[in-house]
Amino acid sequence: MAARLSKHRLRSRALLLRSVAVGEADQIVQLFTEQAGALSAIARGARRSSKRFSALEPMHLLQVTVDVSPVREIGTLAEASIDRPRLRLATTLRPMQAAGRAIRWLRSAIPARTPEPALWIELNALLDALDDSASDGGEDALLAAVGLRMLAAAGWGLVLDRCVRCGKPCPNRARTIVDVRAGGVVCRGCGGLGLTLSSAQRHALVAALGGDASALARAEDAALGITMVDRALEAHGRGEAT
Ligand SMILES: [Zn+2]
Repeated sequence: MAARLSKHRLRSRALLLRSVAVGEADQIVQLFTEQAGALSAIARGARRSSKRFSALEPMHLLQVTVDVSPVREIGTLAEASIDRPRLRLATTLRPMQAAGRAIRWLRSAIPARTPEPALWIELNALLDALDDSASDGGEDALLAAVGLRMLAAAGWGLVLDRCVRCGKPCPNRARTIVDVRAGGVVCRGCGGLGLTLSSAQRHALVAALGGDASALARAEDAALGITMVDRALEAHGRGEAT
């Protein structure tokens, strides 16, 4: 029996990724939902009545109800409310900038309407951490660590302990070359070209990939991690990466 294509109502926790005004009163929102991944929906009258969709703000954890049709790319937003506010994050510049970058990374990494539970957990953990004043000054380390983990969750994880070409383990105390487009470390013998990492930096990045953001406490190490994530996502976006 053929599967019936039917409309359905999706109720899920969600994050607002982007919102674009359309016409006089409507708004098209791109949401990252826990249940169904990324999807776009029209919020009718969102710009006219401030009450109905007043929860449509980035950074907060939202609860949304969307009417989804299998034949239309854009669903209809029926309800949105704030499930858990992130007030510090929504009002403080440095955490907000770090969160904005992570959200851009997410947008470039996810296909439409595919649940991404690992990415959902990583991104929400980052936003919760950035909302906590304990992260003050450590925003870039958190962002870099989550970015590396997001790459892995998207299936593009960087190999940092051995050569991606020949499999030779990285020597413990030597510099290594990371070629982001090749997917990680490329040893000298395999003609590595790319970012040069000291052994301390490579160990710090491996620890961050394992979940220890504090390993990237030095500003230049966090910046290196952020650059690697940027380059990897650009390469995958252009289809250059292997
Ligand atoms: Zn090699």
